[in-house]
Amino acid sequence: MQKVIVTGGTGYIGSHTVVQLLGEGFEVVIIDNLLNSEASALDGIEKITGQRPLFYQVDLLDYANLQDVLALHKDAVACIHFASLKAVAESMERPLWYYRNNLNGMTNLLEGLRSASVEHVIFSSSASVYGNTTVLPITEALPARNAVSAYGISKQVGEELIDAALVEACFGSAISLRYFNPIGAHSSALIGELPKGRPNNLMPYITQTAAGIRQQLTIFGKDYPTPDGTAVRDYLHVEDVATAHVKALMRLLNGKNEAAHEAFNLGSGNGYSVLEIVQAFERANSIKLNYVFAERRPGDVAELRADASLAVEKLGWTAQRSLEDMVRSAWAWERKARGL
Ligand code: NAD
Ligand code: UDP
Repeated sequence: MQKVIVTGGTGYIGSHTVVQLLGEGFEVVIIDNLLNSEASALDGIEKITGQRPLFYQVDLLDYANLQDVLALHKDAVACIHFASLKAVAESMERPLWYYRNNLNGMTNLLEGLRSASVEHVIFSSSASVYGNTTVLPITEALPARNAVSAYGISKQVGEELIDAALVEACFGSAISLRYFNPIGAHSSALIGELPKGRPNNLMPYITQTAAGIRQQLTIFGKDYPTPDGTAVRDYLHVEDVATAHVKALMRLLNGKNEAAHEAFNLGSGNGYSVLEIVQAFERANSIKLNYVFAERRPGDVAELRADASLAVEKLGWTAQRSLEDMVRSAWAWERKARGL
């Protein structure tokens, strides 16, 4: 059984990926400080897979502890690095915190991997590395050096840290996956997105509004140059995102990678406006959502959409689940998590 270390594995995308890794026969070791997740994600993973991954509540900033954990798992073949802070607006208010957590944490991890002799790394990057581009759809040929928020800069520099760690031979090869907008939850409704505090992202805000936890959804901007005036994003199902990690891992393990560090966009290629997401949620779940329009959110662009053909070609991956699947599963999870 091949062992994979997963940082951020109790988090939203991490937990879905752990489920698929276990399903593919990998042994999983999770490192997470539970800053933005709950240990109960392990219960969900166990219910779905019948297996409980080994879990260490360790902060990546705690180098000594991290080293101790990595030293126990020198037989791991790969590390998938999800752990980071991820709220764009918050990163503008507390940029140093974001840089410390995301970059110092990642530097600790990458250096630690050298002594653990882990051969392969997969990094959670983001569409935010492309910044406020108007060139659509976005291909990997667009420079990934245009991030505008501290969060985006931490992802852009994160990709550069991978290159630096390759120079220092901390590991042998890596893939950065640049996600667009993952939403939805596992089909079992046993794991999903459960952000601590007020959600920043659209889908958890919608589900919390439907659950009565938030009074109303605020739609940021109705004067964008889009068909209905609200901003367009490339949403894809979190289970499809998880599958891409397994495919990327197999590419590295089978030595199929064409460079020591490759990067792939993960998107569906479909653009949906905020209003279309709201309406799809209402329709699929027979719910009326309470919403108001407000000013544009600072830093937002009118439209972001991926060209994911490189991932299709090289990873053999496509986003398969529909928008209806995404909004239905998101609500099923929220209801179950809140006991509704
Ligand atoms: P999440 O917050 O649910 O998961 C991240 C996990 O990392 C959390 O469980 C948190 O407790 C942990 N963590 C954070 N800092 C840590 C530290 N210093 N030490 C140990 N653990 C730490 O977020 P997610 O949505 O699952 O995102 C996973 C990754 O994907 C992140 O790197 C994020 O930036 C990236 N990403 C997410 C999205 C999205 O829309 N969700 C889009 C693009 C990229
Ligand atoms: N959005 C919104 N209300 C919210 C949260 C988000 O109107 O409460 C909009 C946001 O302005 C953007 C889209 O929904 O146009 C997706 O935002 P999200 O934060 O989920 O992802 P981003 O694309 O910013 O990474």
